[in-house]
Formats: sequence, C-alpha cells, structure tokens
Amino acid sequence: MATLIASDPSPTATPNFAGMTRQEMADALVSIGVAADKARMRADQLWRWVYHYGARDFAPMSNIAKDLRARLGQAAALTRPDIVDRQISRDGTRKWLVRFAPGVEGEMVFIPGVGRAGALCVSSQVGCTLNCTFCHTGTQKLVRNLTAAEIVAQVMIARDDLNEWPTLERPLNDGDRVLTNIVFMGMGEPLYNLDEVAKAIDIISDGDGIAISRRRITVSTAGVAPRIPELGDRTGAMLAISLHATNDALRNELVPLNKKYPLEALFAAIRAYPGLSNAKRVTFEYVMLKGVNDTLAEAKALVRLLAGVPAKINLIPFNPWPGSPYECSDWETIEAFAAVLNKAGYASPIRTPRGRDILAACGQLRSESVKIRASARALAAE
Ligand code: SF4
Repeated sequence: MATLIASDPSPTATPNFAGMTRQEMADALVSIGVAADKARMRADQLWRWVYHYGARDFAPMSNIAKDLRARLGQAAALTRPDIVDRQISRDGTRKWLVRFAPGVEGEMVFIPGVGRAGALCVSSQVGCTLNCTFCHTGTQKLVRNLTAAEIVAQVMIARDDLNEWPTLERPLNDGDRVLTNIVFMGMGEPLYNLDEVAKAIDIISDGDGIAISRRRITVSTAGVAPRIPELGDRTGAMLAISLHATNDALRNELVPLNKKYPLEALFAAIRAYPGLSNAKRVTFEYVMLKGVNDTLAEAKALVRLLAGVPAKINLIPFNPWPGSPYECSDWETIEAFAAVLNKAGYASPIRTPRGRDILAACGQLRSESVKIRASARALAAE
C-alpha cells in the first residue's frame, strides 16, 4: 500500500473544538488556562454544545462562565471545513464537495429514504489505493487519510445543511430525525484508516452529542481480512463487504485486494466478526456487471458462499462512467439473480440508483466533479 501522508495540524494552530474527543477538549481547555481539575467538567459542557446543538460560536453557551466564553472566542475555534460545491438531485439526494485542507477535497452524499430515514455516505480517505476495476473513485490516487475530526465534520456539515440541530427551544425527537444512518462507503478503504474511523465513530455515536447509534453505523470494506474482527471489537459498527464475485479468479480481477486476502481468508474473518446474529447481519455489496458476474449459476454460488453467515445482499446496478470497461446487467437479469437469493432466504434489495443527475451514485464520487470543474475551467480559459 502507498505511504500515507499524515495530516499535519500545526501544534500552534488555534484549537478547533468541532471534531475533538472529550479528552482532546479537556487538554485544549488546560492549554488555554482552565484549571486541570475543572477541565473535564468544562469539556462535558462544551461537548453538549458542540455535538448536541451544533454550536458554531462560543457566545451563546449560557452555562459556561462569561470570561471563559470570551477566552474561548479569542483562543479557540468552532469551524467546519469549507464547502466547495453543493448539489441537490431531483430525487432529494444531496452531495457536498468539501475542502479539508488545500488540495485535500472529498465528497459525501446524503440519501433520503435509506436506513431508518436517511443515510449519509461519508469518506474515510481522499482517493483510494485499491483500484477496484468497476469503481471510478478508485481511479483517483490516494491523497491522504482523513482525520477523525474531518470525518465527524462531514456529519456536522450534513446536519447544518439539513437544519437538524436541536435548539434550546426546539428539541429534536428521535422520530423527527432525517439523518439516521451513517455508511462508510464514500471514498477510500476505512480499514486502512481504522484508528481515525474508530475515533470518529466514538464521537458520532456518543449519546450526549450527535447520538447516532453504532447499530446505525455501517463500515464497508473491500476485504482487509486481518482488520475485520478488530473493526467490530473497536467500534461495534455494522459490517459491509464489497464482495462482487463468488470465486477468487473473478474477484482478483474486480477487487485486486482479493489477491492478498482471498475469499477463504475473507470469510474466516467475517465469521469472526463479534456479535453476528440475525439482528446484526453482514451486508454484502454486489455490483451487477453485464456478462461478468450476473448468471444464475453465480447467484447460486453466492448462496453457497454465504452459508452460515447472517447476511443480506445489496444488489447494485452498475453506474457507468466514461471509459469504464463494464455495462450494467439488464433489469430482468438483476431480478432473476435477486429471486435466487430471496428463495434461499436472503433479503436482497436492488439498490435504486440515486443522485445520478448530480453524479452522486455509488462509485461515482469525486473524480467526476474534478473532471467537470476542470472542463469548466478550460471553458472559462477559452
Ligand atoms: S470500491 Fe471502495 S475500495 Fe474499491 S476502489 Fe472504490 S473506493 Fe476504493
């Protein structure tokens, strides 16, 4: 795997409380002069403002002493990364292009009607090292891992835009939430950035803050087998596997990581995922590629492969991109494939392509917007 460029927050930079853990908040408070024995209590108060109310300013934090609020206003920040572009699809899907740092831009997508009410698909890296052949995102070189703060910022930006932070006057009942689920299925391989992903999940799931339960957070991997059980131990998140083939020869081609961790190793790791049960099933992602992986024999092979694993299968009609070597399977073929899985007792929804008009569909992230912006620049230059 390529050497990752670690993020390099300057130690002298103004501390940004949006994205910090409780301990980081306490440490930052001490660094601006709060007594060590009071820092934890103050951090708990700040936590509530930052992650429950989505505060972007210290001034309204009414239970924090005025002089401390003033000091925080001068010596600390509550900022989000810049939004470079924001689009809303005809079907309500929203996509944001976010600048985390100069030259470090990534996309995230909100999809209404997925999960309990709506799911936010977040990125864990900018670019990817894995080059899955059906994935446009994978054609973009890895820029770097995102930090936990940058992952949490994606959720905060979405809640800003969906106007979903409660206020003192307007509490948010659980049933009124629009953003109920988080899926790590945007850019990158989350298990190559597990420390930051785990830290971000701790922040997002904390009941005093954003409070999205770990059961509603799904982490999708292309199959980094040795880290799969560790993901479960450290995060309690739901597991998704980007599977796409039922034999090693084809999977080596579609998901080259399979050469390193073939199906046998992958499935041994999946079976070791903590807490698997019918209430905690593994989601298998299977992209439907015409004439490649879509025969009824493959559907039956998939049933055999999944034997004994509590599973559901998401069938994803392939979203073509310029120069992609594949076509999407015919609709009847996808339905026949799904029927074999359903008959064997597996839920196997066919994922409706979402946000195609704004290039937010599965596997289309980032590179397309980069291309579009590049051609817009070229046009402007002309
Ligand atoms: S499918 Fe995921 S792991 Fe594979 S290239 Fe695309 S972003 Fe990377």
